[in-house]
Amino acid sequence: MPAIVDKIADALHLRKSPAFDHNKVTVLFVLGGPGAGKGTQCGYLVKDFGFCHLSAGDLLRAEQHREGSQFGELIQNCIREGTIVPMEVTVKLLENAMADALKEGRSGEGWADGRGRFLVDGFPRKMDQAIKFDEDVCLASLVLFYSTTEEVMLSRLLERGKTSGREDDNAESIKKRFTTYKETTMPVIEHYEALGKVAEIDSSPPADEVYKASKAAVEKTLKK
Ligand code: UDP
Ligand code: MG
Repeated sequence: MPAIVDKIADALHLRKSPAFDHNKVTVLFVLGGPGAGKGTQCGYLVKDFGFCHLSAGDLLRAEQHREGSQFGELIQNCIREGTIVPMEVTVKLLENAMADALKEGRSGEGWADGRGRFLVDGFPRKMDQAIKFDEDVCLASLVLFYSTTEEVMLSRLLERGKTSGREDDNAESIKKRFTTYKETTMPVIEHYEALGKVAEIDSSPPADEVYKASKAAVEKTLKK
């Protein structure tokens, strides 16, 4: 945008600043195909670095089952079909969860004086979400991108499906989730790649091995 347009937009308050300042609140997005190992790696990172782990999928499932929610049916359909819930819903759920965590007054490294650190897992899956979150909620510092083959992801998801009780861990939904991932989420990863904000990690090996790379990438980012 030309500088003059920027200035006019600011003067007219056409642009609001994000809810959280990225100098105080660190956000790492965690992406990768379904079953790539995002949730598992987040679990380890929480223990070592004191992150608050927010899984967009878990927040949506909780909202789906919340009594009185106007979005229950919409969310259920999207999850089963492997499509993306309209971004307003997910972005708001994330923003509220972040505000709650910051209000809670957590202790530990990275959490004093209005500071906090978050792993936003399984989000943003679509460009509109990415732009909205960076502009309205908090500018993300890094994308941890877990990549492996569809074969590995499929076998992990089918294994998880035996006990997860998730409506989308079945062959039919998984196929649709893979398509959405390739068509809709890969462009998001490419967007952050162009900004130099992606740490790509091969998540084919066993989880503890993958974690060595996760830990190194996070240490590097938190030091900046
Ligand atoms: N989902 C969505 N928007 C998001 C994140 C998730 O609509 O920002 C929906 C989408 O239908 C997705 C499902 O929630 O397929 C499950 O997401 P989750 O991250 O739990 O799946 P995972 O990748 O961990 O298997
Ligand atoms: Mg997950």
